[in-house]
Amino acid sequence: MSELTLIDENGKRSDNRGIDDLRQIKITVGVVKNADGSAFIEFGKNKIIVAVYGPREVHPKHMALPDRCVLRCRYHMSPFSTDTRKNPAPSRREVEISKVIRESLEPSLILSDYPRAVIDVFVEVLQADGGSRCAGIAAASVALADAGINMRDLVSACASGRLGDKIVLDINDLEDKEGDADMPVAYLPNTEQITLLQLDGKLSSSQFNECLNKAIDGCKLVYEIQKEALMKKYFGNETEVKEEV
Ligand code: ADP
Repeated sequence: MSELTLIDENGKRSDNRGIDDLRQIKITVGVVKNADGSAFIEFGKNKIIVAVYGPREVHPKHMALPDRCVLRCRYHMSPFSTDTRKNPAPSRREVEISKVIRESLEPSLILSDYPRAVIDVFVEVLQADGGSRCAGIAAASVALADAGINMRDLVSACASGRLGDKIVLDINDLEDKEGDADMPVAYLPNTEQITLLQLDGKLSSSQFNECLNKAIDGCKLVYEIQKEALMKKYFGNETEVKEEV
């Protein structure tokens, strides 16, 4: 598909957004009764539930580490999450995304506080529409906070990409498939650390910088929504907290 179809003459994208617009994001905290922490994120048409269990005893025991907690992450897409039925068995892509989610979250957590234990993070994609790893990371970080895990910062995540000569924020499934580049980024907004940076497609060095800066700006917007969701669960609403402070 040409750039003309992905961005029309008025600068509007396939879902009517401008090039710097995020999709609608809603995060609900504490949605899984049996989990220690959980979150449900709607990121555009992505619908993802994350459940966190732990810190708890490691099984098998030989996996335990004497000086820190083990973080295990599983990203899984349900068979009905995509336009054609997805095989429920873990695919190579899901194994890779599970690994990058773990690596995105690990730097935010103070794992040395829980030696010989494990924390399990289950990211279940109920509906996917592009950018599901970023949405999964953002929800997982909120679920870890909900579980009371000691952390340095929340991890925020957002992708940017290239459609022809335009760098755009938060690419959807169609843009992912038909566009020219996709750059998912995870970011710790307070320590300003990047914990995930992937790139599928080609960018010049100036496009690379523009894309990365745009994704970081997106992460900062997602961070506000993550904080608000936690405030809502723990303090009723954000305004009340601001008044109390
Ligand atoms: P992300 O969801 O993080 O952007 P990808 O770039 O690999 O990850 O995938 C982009 C989108 O492609 C997904 O969000 C999903 O909508 C779609 N997709 C991924 N895997 C499948 C699959 N097995 N069948 C159909 N669609 C898929």
